[in-house]
Amino acid sequence: MTFDDGPHPFCTPAILDVLAEHRVPATFFVIGQFAADQSSLVRRMVAEGHEVANHTMTHPDLSKCGPGEVEREILAANRAIKAASPLASVRHIRAPYGIWSEEVLTASAKAGLTGVHWSIDPRDWSCPGVDAIVDAVLDSVRPGAIVLLHDGCPPNEMQPGTGRNLREQTILALSSLIPALHGRGFVIRSLPQDH
Ligand SMILES: [Zn+2]
Repeated sequence: MTFDDGPHPFCTPAILDVLAEHRVPATFFVIGQFAADQSSLVRRMVAEGHEVANHTMTHPDLSKCGPGEVEREILAANRAIKAASPLASVRHIRAPYGIWSEEVLTASAKAGLTGVHWSIDPRDWSCPGVDAIVDAVLDSVRPGAIVLLHDGCPPNEMQPGTGRNLREQTILALSSLIPALHGRGFVIRSLPQDH
């Protein structure tokens, strides 16, 4: 289970509550500038056994950044996570919009990070409805699947006035998705940490 684009002051605590209720670990690909603003949420993720991973500092399309900028985006996010929670060990990165390049992978490796994409994208960010999110995951889930959900929104896509219920559908979907997966015999695990 992976969450991108947080931490968000209202959505992330609600997601963490659902994960805690079901004792399910997740990976949060956080945006560095949000991690700096919401450092207590980063500490809560770590304290509750979740992985905090890199989703760059400001969420640019890295294919449109110069090489120096790609590296700065990645390293600044690592520093922001570490500053928020010195106990976080940052091992994984997900490129904004899933746009990877040789350059991004090289800069990531230099920063000690392994790239992680996803295998199931229920497009929760587009608010397609709670059932649509749940069904999209249940229809294609397989052992080893990596599910992409969102506990926040990139800084440049934030609409005014949508803060509190920004990820309402995601939160409700997660609440029924976890028991449904458990009911089908799936065990929800952290990303492999063997590197
Ligand atoms: Zn993102």
